[in-house]
Amino acid sequence: MSDNSLRLVWVYPDLLSTYGDQGNALVVERRARQRGLDVTRIDVRSDQPVPTSGDIYLIGGGEDRPQRLAAERLRRDSGLARAAGNGAIIFSVCAGYQILGHEFINDLDQRQPGLGLLDVVSTRGEGERCVGDVLGDIDPPLGLPQLTGFENHQGITHLGPTARPFARTRLGKGNGTGDGTEGAYNDTVFGTYMHGPVLARNPQIADLLLRLALDVNALPPTDDRWYEALRSERITAAQQPA
Ligand code: GLN
Repeated sequence: MSDNSLRLVWVYPDLLSTYGDQGNALVVERRARQRGLDVTRIDVRSDQPVPTSGDIYLIGGGEDRPQRLAAERLRRDSGLARAAGNGAIIFSVCAGYQILGHEFINDLDQRQPGLGLLDVVSTRGEGERCVGDVLGDIDPPLGLPQLTGFENHQGITHLGPTARPFARTRLGKGNGTGDGTEGAYNDTVFGTYMHGPVLARNPQIADLLLRLALDVNALPPTDDRWYEALRSERITAAQQPA
């Protein structure tokens, strides 16, 4: 971060942007502008280099084949890994989350290396695909309200010792390992299975990313009535019997 400017990088919208994940970029951008920041949003297609000078990087979910291509290109490019090494904030969803881990199973049934930015390994779940609304309690040190999101994945993700669970599920599968965890994070790198888009359902997570980027403990308040209406609609819907 320099001065009042924020560089927001949306990684590979051409490969990784399912279930409204592009909304995450819109939400971060809007909430940053509402706080008076001068936002430069950089959408990086998969045939372009990932800049290393971003403050916040967003990476979304995707189908199995685009996920394989995205992981190959991100490893070859190395920009995202170098940005992480510089302390950039990275927020990833589903396929993006799996790519940030050590490895995942790709569409060719092969173990494919990820970027190793999160201490997680993803395998393919043997059971039913994890699909539906999720409610969870975000890791208490992060100080955020209830998590609401929508999951749709076959992969399941195991956390290693240096990854903290991002949340504990009250409803839904999350990481799918049966231990009630959902997502993972370390200092500045976050992964979640939540679509929705998750930052529209949980604007406080977008603000967490901004606080980390700005290195501040609090941000000026915003009028969040629209978000609150969406949150309560989805939380109520999730609690209805199927
Ligand atoms: N292909 C991955 C899986 O099914 C990720 C899916 C997604 O991003 N929605 O686990």
